[in-house]
Amino acid sequence: MSVIHRLPDLLVNQIAAGEVVERPASVLKEVLENAVDAGSRAIEVQLEQGGVRRIRVADDGCGIEREDLALALERHATSKIASLDDLERVGTMGFRGEALAAIAAVARTSITSRATGAAHAWRIDGDDRSLAPAALNHGTVVDVADLYYNTPARRKFLKSEGTEFAHCDEMFRRVALARPDIALQLAHNGRVSHRLPVATPLARVAALMGDDFVAHAREVEAESGVLRLTGLASLPAYSRASRDAQYFFVNGRFVRDKLLTHAVRQAYADILHGARHPAYVLFLTLDPAGVDVNVHPAKIEVRFRDSRAVHQFVFHALTRALAESGAALAGREAV
Ligand code: ADP
Ligand code: MG
Repeated sequence: MSVIHRLPDLLVNQIAAGEVVERPASVLKEVLENAVDAGSRAIEVQLEQGGVRRIRVADDGCGIEREDLALALERHATSKIASLDDLERVGTMGFRGEALAAIAAVARTSITSRATGAAHAWRIDGDDRSLAPAALNHGTVVDVADLYYNTPARRKFLKSEGTEFAHCDEMFRRVALARPDIALQLAHNGRVSHRLPVATPLARVAALMGDDFVAHAREVEAESGVLRLTGLASLPAYSRASRDAQYFFVNGRFVRDKLLTHAVRQAYADILHGARHPAYVLFLTLDPAGVDVNVHPAKIEVRFRDSRAVHQFVFHALTRALAESGAALAGREAV
């Protein structure tokens, strides 16, 4: 007698959700990144009870056609890549087509969207996949309520409202740092905590990291072949007791990468001693073909094709920036 059977779709998605949806902040990451990928100019986030009760993200991006709404909730369905070639040079934040399916399997999810040029919006219910006409001027509203309502074992691992909100806030800050060209707003339990207009990269960094950081940081601007490093790195006077103010982005993606962290530490080795940590916001850009972002669904790690060259470049660029005379900062006082 056969003992092997195929799992039902919902259960498959709930299992997959274990990797993608660790907590409210991971839902926020996926939904925010979708809004970014949709070419939005403005994004508004509303959270309730640390994101556990509700995460609602409204954008003014390209929207989703009525015919595509059900597909958006399907596993392995995406508009972002179509071939291995695309995967190797992917320029969007998402590409797996997994997130919405996973989220809809563990929370009460709906998507309301008006595709550019559509007569009106449509709303799809993540539970029964029913479609109904809806009112929305433009873009997409993704509403994720009651996270883990149907998976009590997961719900037990949620922390306090304050802790979950702090994780959501951190996720929001990463996206906001990477995309100063997008206006972003975050509200928690009806109170707005960030209202960020479109800004220059430097002004966005100042808004999120504080003027004090900017005043005690060196501007980094280096280029070598296809590699480019920009951003701000703190001088020793601004060093911290923890690593809480370290942001490294690779092609717009926040990463925590051993190789990059090592290169940074090494650049600070001679000027920062003991248990102190630098603060920085650094943006590395390179040819998408030179970096593999397909390491893990949470996508916080990357792999470089030429890791030696990247390490050397980051180390030298930072070392040079940190060694520059204070006079180089003069033009930058009026942030
Ligand atoms: P991925 O982002 O990897 O493609 P998702 O499950 O996150 O997978 O989303 C599935 C698809 O739904 C996307 O490829 C995109 O076409 C569409 N989509 C999701 N969110 C939005 C949005 N805010 N605006 C426009 N399209 C969206
Ligand atoms: Mg996505």
